[in-house]
Amino acid sequence: MIYKDWEFFCKKLNEFDINTYKVKDAFEDNIKEPFAIIRHDLEGKISRALDIARIESNNNITSTYYVHGELLTPANVELLREIEDLGHEVGYHYDVLDKHNGDREKAIEEFKYYIDKFVDLGFDLKSICPHGNPLKKRNGWRGNKDLFVPGESKRLFGLYDATVDIPSQVGKERYTFISDAAYSWNRGNFSDIKDIVDFIKDNNSIYIYTHTHRWQKSRLKFYVSKYLFRSARFTATTVYNNSVGKDLVNKFYYLAKRL
Ligand SMILES: [Zn+2]
Repeated sequence: MIYKDWEFFCKKLNEFDINTYKVKDAFEDNIKEPFAIIRHDLEGKISRALDIARIESNNNITSTYYVHGELLTPANVELLREIEDLGHEVGYHYDVLDKHNGDREKAIEEFKYYIDKFVDLGFDLKSICPHGNPLKKRNGWRGNKDLFVPGESKRLFGLYDATVDIPSQVGKERYTFISDAAYSWNRGNFSDIKDIVDFIKDNNSIYIYTHTHRWQKSRLKFYVSKYLFRSARFTATTVYNNSVGKDLVNKFYYLAKRL
């Protein structure tokens, strides 16, 4: 995906009069069809998230940017404040249950630490979103999304969960879920942004999320990083599929999300 694709997409949202929503608004507003709920998961390279945020703002669109707690460095916080100042939502991308190998108590402890940090830094924290780790070895939990059951994060912490709560709150039959996981629009079987535009042109509502660290200014750069990602994933999956490798990759699962 390249910046120009996103700009093209934003222009089409306006042209087709699609109602766009940040995650928190999808819960608080009575959302109207056709709609696009837009979120981005930030695994690194926050400056690219700011670039995307500017493209959206220039087209009068606001969305939600979920960032890992570990990425709240002073330099990144400045960039994230700029994103929030443009009218976007900044939320917490939590990875605590995988990080603590399913230990819920430790996971909640770290979760609380980071939500306090977001608030202390002045962010208007209203929603959260679990990070998915495809190569994590698990026994007894399915992923970070198991930290809360629907409605629980709102009840305990006053925070909506973009993955756990949207399907039940908004109604999953109302939209098609689209993501750029693994460098392609593989949720919903779209091959490129034009396919998605054709889909929304027919008044279809969507819930779309992207990984901004993978967006590039040029198509060549994008194809190079896509190739590197696919090679790294092939190696990791091959190693993972033998039993010694499983433990090894599990130890380094944390690196996988940066690619
Ligand atoms: Zn993630």
